[in-house]
Amino acid sequence: MSFVIKLQWFFKQQWMKYVTAISLMALISLGSMIPPRLVGQLIDSIRVSSLTREGLVTMVGLLLGLAVITYVVNYIWMTTLFGNSILLEKTMRSRLMRHWTRMTPSFFQRNRTGDLMALATNDVLAVSQTAGFGVLTLVNTVVGITVVLGTMILFTSYKLMLAALIPMPFLAFAISRLGKAMRKRFLASQEAFGRMNDQALESISGMRVIRSYVQETHDAASFHQVTTDVMNKNRKVAFIGAMFQPVISTIVGISYSIGIGYGSYLVFHGELSLGQLVTFNIYLGQLVWPMIAFGEFINILQRGNASVDRLEASLGQKADVREPDQPLEVAQPLGLEIRGLTFRYPDSNADSLKGISLRVERGATLGVVGRTGSGKSTLLKQLLRLYPVDPHKVFISGVPIEQISIERIRSWIGYVPQEHMLLSKTIAENIALGKTEATEEEIRRAVEMASFAGDVEQMKDGLQTIVGENGVMLSGGQKQRLAIARALLVNPEILLLDDSLSAVDARTESAILNNLRRERAGKTTWISTHRLSAVSHANWIIVLEEGRIVEEGTHEQLMNLGGWYRQQYDKQQLEASLMGEGREADGE
Ligand code: ATP
Ligand code: MG
Repeated sequence: MSFVIKLQWFFKQQWMKYVTAISLMALISLGSMIPPRLVGQLIDSIRVSSLTREGLVTMVGLLLGLAVITYVVNYIWMTTLFGNSILLEKTMRSRLMRHWTRMTPSFFQRNRTGDLMALATNDVLAVSQTAGFGVLTLVNTVVGITVVLGTMILFTSYKLMLAALIPMPFLAFAISRLGKAMRKRFLASQEAFGRMNDQALESISGMRVIRSYVQETHDAASFHQVTTDVMNKNRKVAFIGAMFQPVISTIVGISYSIGIGYGSYLVFHGELSLGQLVTFNIYLGQLVWPMIAFGEFINILQRGNASVDRLEASLGQKADVREPDQPLEVAQPLGLEIRGLTFRYPDSNADSLKGISLRVERGATLGVVGRTGSGKSTLLKQLLRLYPVDPHKVFISGVPIEQISIERIRSWIGYVPQEHMLLSKTIAENIALGKTEATEEEIRRAVEMASFAGDVEQMKDGLQTIVGENGVMLSGGQKQRLAIARALLVNPEILLLDDSLSAVDARTESAILNNLRRERAGKTTWISTHRLSAVSHANWIIVLEEGRIVEEGTHEQLMNLGGWYRQQYDKQQLEASLMGEGREADGE
């Protein structure tokens, strides 16, 4: 029952189809009661020698006609019912996908990819099977058994029926015990499957690193372990599954023996005709499938229930950053302001930003520098609304960021993350990720601005070159410039460059920066970097240390201050001149 309640949204939507399918199945059950009765009558009329030629022809004609009607009706309910279950499968997958795309990083920190994959494949399938085959077996059980028993009482002997049914309660008991064990083992097998998926994903995507550390054998061995675990758990499921049928057949066999034995006795004593005995035994045979269906139903329902629980659990997880109830309309991001922001990652026990206050006017460029791990990326990410922040700390156009719709905010921002994310598609498709309708001309312009055009020309298919999984065929600097072109294509109001020039040489860096200054006049840009030359032109520069702003000002002010910025700048200038002004200055 709980299964139906959990999926009521679907059953409510599709109730007409279920009613149709179930009615037709019931009709078939009723119809299947006719032939045994006809056969019984035929035998009795042979026995008393009253069978005529016309009688036989009518009988055979009736049986044939019934077969054809059964065929048609079966076809209709099957396509209706299983069409529904396939629809449920699709609907569930879309729901999952929609839900997951709304989730924030902490969700993906909690849930591993392999588990999510297992949900979207195995569990969704188990649920849809319950809504299809499960319904079939349930209806067959309930309607089949009722109809057969009713007909037995009506046309044969209730005594014989009661005697033949004595073993049945044992069947119910055995089935429910097996079902419980089934559920437990199935859950364990699904979990093992999720773990295996995770490991396979990690091994395949990390193959290059694994090989370079000569860890293939080790990796294969540990994968062998998880697949063995999956196999063992699946075997346990199969073992329980295999117990169902023998238990059912044994009990049904006992039933048959009683039916034939006691039935013959009744025939001898004139309480039953021979035809009725034959009819009864055919009916008893027709009870076997509903009984098996009952076993199957328990089996499928257990799986479906386990899976629907897992799906509900995943769908029930809320994103920790939610859309505001009544978003305030902000047409354009004029100025950005942060007032005393302290931030801690959800699973961390130290603050990554402490008491940050700053103002960035529209059109200004902000430089964010500091040691590694000082909080630069964390600060940039605050504008993306990926993590919950204290209210009234971050403002856009004077409005607290948590009162503006998330989609709105993200539509203003072009974000070039520190770690690239490329799809295994063409360069053009990767660039047009945020603006799929972009023309080739626009893409070329973005490529030009990111100083990526020369590289693209060298490639076999130009913009149509497929970059391979996560861009395996691009160099680090090429990936960075592709990501910059992607952000520039949407011409964002706010551009966030998170250490995005670290893998390009000094000359390329200054070319890109010049392009940005020229093309993005009047728009806001935040640049985080280790190479201070990348921010010396910025309107304002902040130096972070352990999440705090320790120095801030313009380039000149910071140089005069003579602190960390000055030391670092001088050091980098010296290094650059020693290396010969940008020649071979590839990366740090
Ligand atoms: P880098 O120059 O190496 O890119 P950064 O200045 O960008 O460093 P951040 O990535 O902002 O540094 O990290 C600041 C601190 O926050 C670090 O101590 C880091 O361990 C922590 N941190 C970063 N991401 C997470 C996360 N998802 N969960 C918990 N802690 C995190
Ligand atoms: Mg960083």
